[in-house]
Amino acid sequence: MSFTQLNIDESIKGILNKFEKPTPIQASCWPICLSGRDVIGIAETGSGKTLAFTVPALKHIKSLSHIPLINKPLILAIAPTRELAMQIQVQCEEFDSVCGIRSVCIYGGGSKEDQRKVLRKGVHIVVATPGRLLDFINEGICDISNVSYLVLDEADRMLDKGFENEIRQIIVKTRKNRQTVMFSATWPESVRKLANDFLNNPMKVAI
Ligand code: AMP
Repeated sequence: MSFTQLNIDESIKGILNKFEKPTPIQASCWPICLSGRDVIGIAETGSGKTLAFTVPALKHIKSLSHIPLINKPLILAIAPTRELAMQIQVQCEEFDSVCGIRSVCIYGGGSKEDQRKVLRKGVHIVVATPGRLLDFINEGICDISNVSYLVLDEADRMLDKGFENEIRQIIVKTRKNRQTVMFSATWPESVRKLANDFLNNPMKVAI
């Protein structure tokens, strides 16, 4: 697969053109994600998984562009650590400069007020760690009821860190008919159960 074969906007392709070709996880995930189907990607950090789930997210936003930009995000990516959430956010910031897709990173330890201010201005994408996001949801600061594309990144690490309750509480507040994309480096019973409970007929891709 090459970038030119991808059924996405030229502005988004521009982001990819600095690379020679898609990584294996991108080449496997993009067609499935772009078809709207749920995906489980078994892949490690460094495999190019961030673009594997963010590029289809952009297409998802564009397909919903009739929805006004209010403080109800359309895309949610949950990650186990502040470092990983910030790494995803760096990628998302590039999308803002290229195609005006706005995002915020919500993580424990960062200024609540600053994160709240960005949210108030309206964002398409929320990237978050589970604990702080749940605080924001419960305080009425972040409404995820419009989220129709959900990413669970490094699901095994989120469960290892004891975030299962938070993740489950968050997922049920998103749209029922959402698309869900889960990434995990490993595939233990706990991750399988989470996938079983929240993904709908997913395709599993292991690289
Ligand atoms: P990730 O697994 O998402 O953390 O990505 C690891 C690194 O791979 C990041 O620095 C990306 O910029 C880079 N990367 C993503 N896609 C590609 C690609 N198609 N070719 C080469 N490098 C890539």
